[in-house]
Amino acid sequence: MSKQVSGEQVYYLPEGSQRVLGSDAMRMNIAICYAIANIVKTTLGPRGMDKMLVSDLGDIVITNDGATILEEMNVDHPAAKLMVEIAKTQDKEVGDGTTTSVVLAGNLLRSAGQLLEQRIHPTVIIKGYELAVKKAEKVLESVSSPVTPKDTETLKKIALVSMGSKGIGSEDEKMKIGQIISDAVMQVSENKTGKYKVDLDLIKVEKKAGGDVMNTELIRGVLIDKEIVHSGMPKSIKDAKVLLLDVALEIEKTETDAKIEITSPDKMEAFLHQEEKMMRDMVDKIQKTGATVVFCQKGVDDLVQHFLAKRGISAVRRVKKSDMEKLARATGGQVASSLEDIKESELGYAGSVEERKIGGEAMVFVEKCKDPKSVTIFVRGGTDHVVSEVERAVIDARGAVASAIEDGKFVVGGGSVEMEISKQLHEYAIQIGGREQLAIQAFAEALESIPKALAENAGMDVIDTLVALRNKHKEKDGVGVGVDVLNSKVSDLKASGVYEPAKVKRQAMSAATETARLILRIDDIISSRGKSGPGPGGPGGMPGMDMGD
Ligand code: ADP
Ligand code: MG
Repeated sequence: MSKQVSGEQVYYLPEGSQRVLGSDAMRMNIAICYAIANIVKTTLGPRGMDKMLVSDLGDIVITNDGATILEEMNVDHPAAKLMVEIAKTQDKEVGDGTTTSVVLAGNLLRSAGQLLEQRIHPTVIIKGYELAVKKAEKVLESVSSPVTPKDTETLKKIALVSMGSKGIGSEDEKMKIGQIISDAVMQVSENKTGKYKVDLDLIKVEKKAGGDVMNTELIRGVLIDKEIVHSGMPKSIKDAKVLLLDVALEIEKTETDAKIEITSPDKMEAFLHQEEKMMRDMVDKIQKTGATVVFCQKGVDDLVQHFLAKRGISAVRRVKKSDMEKLARATGGQVASSLEDIKESELGYAGSVEERKIGGEAMVFVEKCKDPKSVTIFVRGGTDHVVSEVERAVIDARGAVASAIEDGKFVVGGGSVEMEISKQLHEYAIQIGGREQLAIQAFAEALESIPKALAENAGMDVIDTLVALRNKHKEKDGVGVGVDVLNSKVSDLKASGVYEPAKVKRQAMSAATETARLILRIDDIISSRGKSGPGPGGPGGMPGMDMGD
């Protein structure tokens, strides 16, 4: 016999299946999404707290990053998984604003829940939300300002705000990393037909525990996690001419089991001689190109290593394909797939190629390249936990600065855009009228969850702050007024340089609205996962079913 839920007997589903219907299903989904939003809400902004996540194997992650928290939480309920999806998409699309998008989605759903209680049909709410998000995007455009890769100061501020909430230590450290990130993004950005493009893959982020955060550096080139193959080769090469090879520097083994019959010691000697000659030829060809360093994607035979070392040429073997591509972009060289006819023009240039021991491991620094189109941010920090969190902060900030450049627009943060959009949505709602008006107002209220959370996390009075913000936004120059989290007051954040890419906000609003729509269209949850898995009710009933504040 199958389980009976919502008064309906489910004969046609396998034993152990569960079914939740109609408004029960919707209420449950909404409650779960709101609960998830509330979990990450406390991490929002520079005064947000961190979460310590412990996996079932006992691994510990300490983080403030929305996407990481949700991923590590391993949520099981299908609606909760949709929330995790928002964070992941946000991370992929813009690289920052994950907490914002999840908090927004949870609050859009909570507001929708209140409308449902007033017997407003989900399709009306969806319609209202769609109108609202379109209008919100227009308002966002109207309050955003332009930014290009040349506006270093603005980009640095965007990087700083993005890193602001991660617990990565002192102002000096943040300033230094902010500079590194804006330099890095500027270096690899390309202007294609009037629009800037930033390929994030070209800014490699490498981390190694040890040293301290201040030792984090921008390498104008590539860091290769390998060593120089032979101890007799130079470990530090200035003005290096770099040869990039996609061929093995070995004698190829025959494919089939060919036998060579050697009948006399003479023949044996001739054979070995022949092999040695072939390898010597390879090295001759390399030397002829004028290369002083060779990066080989394949293997390098011991004898070839020996010959190269004798001629003062350094080599690194089994370099990853992705690193070969980065080397090509950084040094301006081309990857050769044959040793024949390599021209000097195909060689790359690096001001310095050096093997250094970092934390007991050898790494090869290819740096001081001329106008490199691929760079590396080398993250350092006291312990594994610290470097990991700094790395996440760097990745977020890299995404934020890149989004700002690609999109060409930034806005003022600290909840000020959300307040401005909310205000204008309230005015717009009246123009629309009808039942959709209520949904547009609900959307406007949900946006206020961002300044509310920022104020709450900063220990400020939430109601007072909200009232002050609303009043200020009614004034003529109130657009940039937000929660000045660091000074626990309401002030104009345009003046204090709390800048964020417009794309972060646009993507957060659209992803949150889409998820709200998805969930508001569900009136039936059928789970055939059997008794062992948590059914649609989730383990231990419904968390956060309390929908009040
Ligand atoms: P997310 O994952 O959404 O990026 P964060 O924890 O990084 O979440 O917090 C981002 C929010 O914090 C944004 O609304 C941003 O405007 C705000 N914020 C960041 N720095 C400041 C600051 N110095 N003053 C006020 N608000 C800030
Ligand atoms: Mg952020």
